[in-house]
Amino acid sequence: MRLTDHVTLVAGGAYGFDLSDPLDCHVYLVRGARHSVLVDAGAGRSAESIVRAVRATGADPGRLLLTHGHADHAGGAAALAERLPGLRVLAGAEATGWIAAGDEAGVSLDRGKASGYYPADYSFAPCPQVEALADGEEIDLGGGVVLRAVATPGHADGHLCFHLRAPGHRALFSGAEPARLPGSRVRGQSEQAGGARRGRAVPRPPRGLARAGRAPSGGRPRHPRPRAAAEEHDMTPRDSA
Ligand SMILES: [Zn+2]
Repeated sequence: MRLTDHVTLVAGGAYGFDLSDPLDCHVYLVRGARHSVLVDAGAGRSAESIVRAVRATGADPGRLLLTHGHADHAGGAAALAERLPGLRVLAGAEATGWIAAGDEAGVSLDRGKASGYYPADYSFAPCPQVEALADGEEIDLGGGVVLRAVATPGHADGHLCFHLRAPGHRALFSGAEPARLPGSRVRGQSEQAGGARRGRAVPRPPRGLARAGRAPSGGRPRHPRPRAAAEEHDMTPRDSA
């Protein structure tokens, strides 16, 4: 699904347009004059269809940029790297260890399975070649198309947003809410998240955050609804519902 001259949506699951496996986040292909990259990987069960969608555009992405380590965004990194020769995988430094090892506790997949969000037979394929991408690093795709990593820890430790500058077009790939929502961090869960694990009700965050990212409740780890690249004219997270 071509969104702009430079951005194509190549996958998205139940929170999106049902283009691929229900677990998949939105997966974007960003193209410049010389290079292209993928933003996020999906959960891994639809890697073949993602590769077909990428190939259909004629692009040969050299890098996969992961916004964070949750399985719906990073679980497919190994499968894509296997199918796209030479693909470099990059993520926020704090997330690389979990992604490299397929650490299910580190990326909260254990709790996601316990809640039924992920099926019990799902596994996070280790992606040992993942490299760290630092806050502020820029990737020049040519023709004035540049992606900049912006550290936004909150939804998950090591979370990065990617800010796109392109001719006549700016956008932000947020991956998930950069807001600090109770129960949504990969590590360092708050006391409130502890309450969630024990099945207690969790206090709702301030109204603005709740609207932006959906508050967890009833102990079910939530992944905020993936959103399409938001126009930079308004960088404030907006409700996509
Ligand atoms: Zn997430």
